[in-house]
Amino acid sequence: MEVLLLDCPSRGQGSSRRSSITIRPFPFLKLTEYLENVPTHPLDKCLYDIKWLEADDPNILDCELVDLDYFIFLKKSITIAKDINYTTTFYCPNRNHLNHLPIKLSQISFNKLDYKKIGVGTVKLNGRWRAIGPPTIREFLSVLNLYIRVQKVKDLDMVKLLSLFREFQMDPNTLERDILEAEGDDVTLLTLLSELYFSVVQPVKTTCLSCNKETGERRDLAIGINSLIANFFREVIDNNPITTDKILFE
Ligand SMILES: [Zn+2]
Repeated sequence: MEVLLLDCPSRGQGSSRRSSITIRPFPFLKLTEYLENVPTHPLDKCLYDIKWLEADDPNILDCELVDLDYFIFLKKSITIAKDINYTTTFYCPNRNHLNHLPIKLSQISFNKLDYKKIGVGTVKLNGRWRAIGPPTIREFLSVLNLYIRVQKVKDLDMVKLLSLFREFQMDPNTLERDILEAEGDDVTLLTLLSELYFSVVQPVKTTCLSCNKETGERRDLAIGINSLIANFFREVIDNNPITTDKILFE
């Protein structure tokens, strides 16, 4: 399927000159191959997902990193039908109760970013001004590959954050130290940057049934969608066994 970059979180405002890219559903055989080989480490898993997207369309590498989660999600969701209902599991943040949450794919909605507000800029970190700008997937990939090799950072959000800084290409060690050891105001700044650029999925609102029973009142919860789609296929398969009428063959 042709995906218009206008419909993506970046709204096509990035540096790519293309207006669309191609994303294909997994044919059944490839889906099996995908599931058999999916790595558990978050950095390896991200690289793995990028490789599958690149096989559909190499131009994906020149798209924006902010669109990556959307592309990954799209490839998975067009593989199973469009409006499938599926059940996912989550633990409530209050008492750690296990909940089963039925959701529809159409409930998962992606924010669109305003590049005029968050485009290229400078931020003051550890007393120095530094240039930042939204990276392409190719630029992010060079940072990701480095951390897969050196194994120093295991958190994917942290690697995404590092790739925002232009300085990474020149002096990765200083930047890495200033970010990993940030304190005070700098922590607030880094959290804000991470939210601005990478929180592109809106949380799903729900409630915890056990808490409701215990307190006798309904307490709303917002479940971050990243945790809901992290094991997307696994959840779909465990809770809703896939049959041949749910897989789109190429
Ligand atoms: Zn609860």
